[in-house]
Amino acid sequence: MRVKAAVLHEENKPLAIEEIELQPPKRGEVLIKVGAAGICRSDLHFIKGEAPITLPAILGHEGSGTVEAVGEGVTMVKPGDRVILSFVPNCGFCHYCETGRPHLCDTALSVNRGVMMDGTSRHFTASGKQITNMGKVSCFAERTVAPESGCIPVAEDFPLENAALVGCSVTTGVGAVLFNAKVQPGSSVAVVGCGGVGLNVIQGARIAGATTIIAVDVQDPQLDFACRFGATHSVNASREDAVARVRQITQGGVDYAFEAFGGGETTNMAVEMTRKGGTAVIVGLAPVGDKAPIEAMTLTRLEKTIKGCYYGSSRPRQDMPRLVELYRRGVLDIDHLVARRYSLDQINGAFADLDSSKVGRGVIVF
Ligand SMILES: [Zn+2]
Ligand SMILES: [Zn+2]
Repeated sequence: MRVKAAVLHEENKPLAIEEIELQPPKRGEVLIKVGAAGICRSDLHFIKGEAPITLPAILGHEGSGTVEAVGEGVTMVKPGDRVILSFVPNCGFCHYCETGRPHLCDTALSVNRGVMMDGTSRHFTASGKQITNMGKVSCFAERTVAPESGCIPVAEDFPLENAALVGCSVTTGVGAVLFNAKVQPGSSVAVVGCGGVGLNVIQGARIAGATTIIAVDVQDPQLDFACRFGATHSVNASREDAVARVRQITQGGVDYAFEAFGGGETTNMAVEMTRKGGTAVIVGLAPVGDKAPIEAMTLTRLEKTIKGCYYGSSRPRQDMPRLVELYRRGVLDIDHLVARRYSLDQINGAFADLDSSKVGRGVIVF
């Protein structure tokens, strides 16, 4: 079928809004009518050429929608179901799936070359050229095809734009606190970078019962916004030595520091901000090749721990419904994360707004 999509043909060029050819779902796959798609910095990395991807590509990895048709053998969803799309649709049988870490699924990541689990593609340009998909989601299109294991059903009254954000930033941020670090009540937390993921780390820390939550960013509007999600202190790293300030506020450093910006220097900052025996959790995705200049001795003498955290260390099929329930109970705020709504035709403006660091999240609504 022909569907309208935003296609990246060339780095640092606007996405082209055009009709593409979408093939029907094969075995274990689902046709999705996309409902909402978040504008996330990971997409921008590909647009700017800061992360490699084979072009042309349809980006968009933070999406939700409605199941329109299912391929052979699909049992977990049916037409009409509202779903969150996971960008790590897991196989269920590899070492990582069987040891309870489906977000690290070998099969999903080894075929993460922009094709489906069977190595073939469903997305083609009108002239027949294969299009790379992103995370088997590619939600910057009216319709897409996804593996059924990447479709997490939610109740039909859960807003589609909120469902999209659970697909990436909410799970990545809140999950880093609850599922990876397992922050204890009464803890102190610092969050470096208060964009889409950082805001969710902050509210994850609030939900976990952290009593000191320090937001660190270089822009005052982002810091003010962070306070609405639970930050108790804010530090503008462009005006003061953020590490020294965090140590001063906490009299020695935080129990947990989260890097939610994506960079080597900020990774080092997170390590430096932790107290003796503290833990730095690296959530942001740094540019390829970026190194963190960590003083190795401090890890030994101060018994610090550094942990990587991908996709909130979540088990998407188990944990996304839990996060949705926290929203229903009024514990998790997703409504106020969404600051701007766009149509698919406005997508290049949406990325310009993201790049100019407007507060809150932008979402494409279909
Ligand atoms: Zn994302
Ligand atoms: Zn697997």
